[in-house]
Order: sequence, then C-alpha cells, then structure tokens
Amino acid sequence: MSKIRQILKVGNPILRQRSDAIINIADPQIDELIEDLIATADAANGVGIAAPQVASSVRLFVVASRPSPRYPYAPTMQPTAMIDPQLIDRSGEMVSGWEGCLSVPGMRGLVLRDRSIEVTYLTRHGEFVQQELTGFVARIFQHELDHLNGILFPDRVSSSTDLITEAEYLKIAFD
Ligand code: ZN
Repeated sequence: MSKIRQILKVGNPILRQRSDAIINIADPQIDELIEDLIATADAANGVGIAAPQVASSVRLFVVASRPSPRYPYAPTMQPTAMIDPQLIDRSGEMVSGWEGCLSVPGMRGLVLRDRSIEVTYLTRHGEFVQQELTGFVARIFQHELDHLNGILFPDRVSSSTDLITEAEYLKIAFD
C-alpha cells in the first residue's frame, strides 16, 4: 500500500543536495518510493514531485499533470515515474510561466523554461525512453530535474518582483 510521505520545505538541506544515481532499479524500495510519490503528489494537488522532496536523495521523479485547484489548466496524463532523467536537447525557444512547488508553499514565481525539450529516462520497469516534451509537461520535467540538482524555482526567477504569493497569483490567473 502506498503512503503519503511528509514533504520537505525550503530550508531543509536535503533539498539543496545533488541526488545520487539509482544503482539497483529492481530494488523493491524504489517501487515503494514511486507509489508513495504518486500518492503524495495526488494528495497535495501537485503535478510533479521529486524524490528529494520526500527526503530520498535519488535521481527519480514523478510527472503527473492533471487539472487541480493549484493548476486548473494542466493537461491530463498518467502519473509517470522517470528514473535517471536526462535533458539531452533544448528547443532554445524560451517561454515564461508561473511555477509553484510543494516544497515552497504559498509562493509562485515567473520562470523561463524551454518550450520544447528532448529527454531520456528509465521507466519503473527499466525500459529506456527517449521522447520530446512540450509546453506544461516540458516545464514540469525541467522543474523536477532541477530538484535532483538542488535547485528550487525561486533560484530561476529573473527578478525578485517575479516572486509573489499564491493568493496574488490566483488573482492574476483568474481575472
Ligand atoms: Zn518543486
């Protein structure tokens, strides 16, 4: 059974570490971690969550875009675990968008990301995947990959005036 894990918040040093490679993908603890990440993101209305956010400093995240009160216009997809994710090519076309993070509660920041990226990762069954991601899902991938390298979205805003509260963001988003 999956369980909801506690999400670390900004200030916790684990969020600032570079995560370690996963040596044994078949370790049952990895499968358990994936199930827990999916359940934890779901319970918190997250569209993605990285292992370090639940204090497991390994190179794994879940992308789970779907509409929620936090992201009403998110596209719907099956929650997908991505192990050893790599960003291998970028479109070079940058788009700005508001991001939030379960580890930075109550805040949103305007962050530039590549609109389209080429990525690779291993599935939870150990299959190698190479695919192009665009738009919101590409944004989630780049945000989650940052987590594996100890980077949080406020590090990516170009100006401190692009960092606002979630309440103010909701006014902008739904006006
Ligand atoms: Zn995050």
